[in-house]
Amino acid sequence: PYVGPSKEEVLALRKEHLSPAMLYHFKNPVMITHGKMQYLFDERGRRYLDAFAGIVTVSVGHCHPEVNKAVIEQTERLQHTTVIYLNNQIAEYAKELTDRMPGNLKARRGGKGGRDLGRFLVAYFVNSGSEANDMAIMMARLYTGQYDMIALRNGYHGLTGATMGLMGLHTWKANIPHGFGVHHALNPDPYRGVFGNDGPAYARDVTDIIQSSTPGRVAGFISETIQGVGGAVPLADGYLPEVYKTVREAGGICIADEVQTGFGRTGSNYWGFQNAGVTPDIVTMAKGIGNGLPLGAVVTTPEIAATLAQRLHFNTYGGNPVCSAGGRAVLRVIDQEGIQAKAADVGGHLLKGLRGLAAKHDVIGDVRGLGLMTGMELVKDRATKEPAKEETAYVFERCKDLGVLLGKGGLHGNVFRIKPPMCITKPDVDFLVAALDQALSEL
Ligand code: PMP
Repeated sequence: PYVGPSKEEVLALRKEHLSPAMLYHFKNPVMITHGKMQYLFDERGRRYLDAFAGIVTVSVGHCHPEVNKAVIEQTERLQHTTVIYLNNQIAEYAKELTDRMPGNLKARRGGKGGRDLGRFLVAYFVNSGSEANDMAIMMARLYTGQYDMIALRNGYHGLTGATMGLMGLHTWKANIPHGFGVHHALNPDPYRGVFGNDGPAYARDVTDIIQSSTPGRVAGFISETIQGVGGAVPLADGYLPEVYKTVREAGGICIADEVQTGFGRTGSNYWGFQNAGVTPDIVTMAKGIGNGLPLGAVVTTPEIAATLAQRLHFNTYGGNPVCSAGGRAVLRVIDQEGIQAKAADVGGHLLKGLRGLAAKHDVIGDVRGLGLMTGMELVKDRATKEPAKEETAYVFERCKDLGVLLGKGGLHGNVFRIKPPMCITKPDVDFLVAALDQALSEL
């Protein structure tokens, strides 16, 4: 059982001593003191189904025993900086992580005929998604000698000075001189976008941007493969292959932000970009990579990575022994427990359940996603698509009272982001759908 200050006391401490920028969910917030696999528990021991995985960070389950064991063992042996001395964990982890990249990425720039190209993929470890993307765009700029980056409207890549420049959502942008040289392209949003699901039509905007707003050459392009914070928005069919081609023709490199979509979450593939049939030059990772540990990574080709070695570069804790041990355990668990196949199977069941709700409740404008990376958008009117913000807020709060913690997102706060730990079962999904049904019926 939990022993410690009460929820009210914790709230008072936060109000007095923590930055007011720290947000929490719900009018009546929940205090979480324990986690076990797909469940979270409050200070009174009440159980909640976690349908948001602590913001998509928990991939294989809260306090997964194998990950915990690896972290505890390494903590007892050594916790230290990553740099200046050798340690086995980060080195073995880099091999194990890059071994999970698809063959064509290994071969694309890795080396010349007949060699073991797998060896040539390299990782750089950091502590968060923002840092990973910060590094990625720096590498793109150093490698190409160009400065202009293209990102998507409605995209989210982090909140450091540099990544805030990539941000495509005004709600997260502070009025400071954040990273410049970023052009925001039309978002290829199949539900709300002007060209519907016509990917190549949106891709022409990237050509226009290159021709009108850059020297004709660019450093690169970055996007999520399904937008997370922006409201679980998949990119229109055929968009990424066109854009990657255009950007490469302009000398740029292509970055896939897999912070939310990686590690099997989309079910059909280990990496989100594989669903679009593209091969990025740099892949950034965080969140699910560490199952809750502060860990991120940038994986790229040795050629691109080499540019970073022009100057000294250093990150005290990136890939430290404890986080590396945990990250390695996550990879093992994903393989051993068939997590990707589970995401496909249980995710399919979830999408079916959500579509069933859409057939019953007119307020549901769209159900979308892949595997366990799903979204459900509420609208006041299916024709005008006016966001049903208050209705979303009600269902969000009500589902919490019914024992289900959902995520919320989208620019208008009218999209449920349903991205549970990937150990979730079909009976859990049935419970989740029943709670949503109940709350929606009360509108
Ligand atoms: N990229 C994506 C796609 C994200 O969703 C996030 C976090 N929401 C980030 C990058 C930034 O990650 P962090 O908060 O760990 O810096």
